[in-house]
Amino acid sequence: MKDKNRLRKIYDRTNGYCHLCHKKLAFTNHGRNGTQGAWHIEHSIAKAKGGTDHLNNLYAACISCNIKKGVSHSKNVRRSNGVTRAPYNKNKSQKIRNTNTLAGAASGALLGSYFGPGGTIVGGLLGGIFGESNSPKK
Ligand SMILES: [Zn+2]
Repeated sequence: MKDKNRLRKIYDRTNGYCHLCHKKLAFTNHGRNGTQGAWHIEHSIAKAKGGTDHLNNLYAACISCNIKKGVSHSKNVRRSNGVTRAPYNKNKSQKIRNTNTLAGAASGALLGSYFGPGGTIVGGLLGGIFGESNSPKK
């Protein structure tokens, strides 16, 4: 846990957002309660419930979320915060964005093709923009 690389990995898993409320965290304020973006390493499955110290059970969470969560399930806490999942890491988020943009462009082009070749181009552009705006920001 003292290892900075490990901290970085956990932080990057959610692209630096609290996995429970999606608030932005400050990497350098790990464990510094009371500072802006302070965070803890959170066990998604509480150790008291058999959770491990493996990376796949560890997430970054703001300190108040970590305390609020206690031993309850991540899903329940996320739901009470109005979110359904942990934030994506940078790579995954970018991948989804690209896929949505492509899918949007394809369906827009199909729609536009009803209006002739010019429509295909305009439709593709509009669809691409729509796909992009439909993508998750984190
Ligand atoms: Zn939080």
